[in-house]
Amino acid sequence: MMGPWSRRWIGAPEVATVRDLDADDLGPLVVDCAGLGARDLVPDPAVVPVRGQVVVCEQVGLEEWLVDESDERELTYVVPRLDDVVVGGTAEEGVDDRRVDPATVERILARATALVPRLAAARVLRHRVGLRPARPTVRLEAEDRGGRTVVHCYGHGGAGVTLSWGCAVEVADLVAGFP
Ligand SMILES: Cc1cc2nc3c(=O)[nH]c(=O)nc-3n(C[C@H](O)[C@H](O)[C@H](O)COP(=O)(O)OP(=O)(O)OC[C@H]3O[C@@H](n4cnc5c(N)ncnc54)[C@H](O)[C@@H]3O)c2cc1C
Repeated sequence: MMGPWSRRWIGAPEVATVRDLDADDLGPLVVDCAGLGARDLVPDPAVVPVRGQVVVCEQVGLEEWLVDESDERELTYVVPRLDDVVVGGTAEEGVDDRRVDPATVERILARATALVPRLAAARVLRHRVGLRPARPTVRLEAEDRGGRTVVHCYGHGGAGVTLSWGCAVEVADLVAGFP
């Protein structure tokens, strides 16, 4: 679907790190969707990492999802996909270590296998560690920074994929009509 924001082709994107939202070389309109980066960029100390470690296992014919969040820090989930199964996980607030922790792998697999015994036969394919960009609430608003408008959209925590469509529409509404 075409929206007002998609009518004009603005050329190939340039990939660069923005160090300062008030820098002279930025344009009059900036959309800040820096995730965890907003902590230093805005700066916004309310943004914190919530570390998540998962194990990706071989698909062994599983079809049903399982999510157990009774322990907020050590979640247990088994998410079958076409070719593999994502087994998790952790939610460690304030931890920004992206290295795989072998002891955590053991605990994740033990919890998951207790609930889904068929996982015991699954080979481990790979490990993943990610940092959720958490904030008490999502920040989605326009800020006037002395002649420059910055539309902030960050702080989605562990629901960024789910919220992305709605947030994108709200950001597009905020920038629509901007010259
Ligand atoms: C283990 C784990 C499990 C998850 N599970 C789910 C789930 O089940 N459902 C769900 O909906 N979501 C889930 N999420 C959350 C989801 O992945 C995040 O909420 C989402 O990625 C946030 O999107 P974002 O675009 O705001 O931030 P990001 O994806 O972090 O993107 C921010 C981007 O900004 C860039 N950036 C940062 N600073 C600067 C700068 N100064 N200049 C230029 N670029 C900059 C970064 O390089 C990055 O590309 C999970 C995340 C993890 C880690």
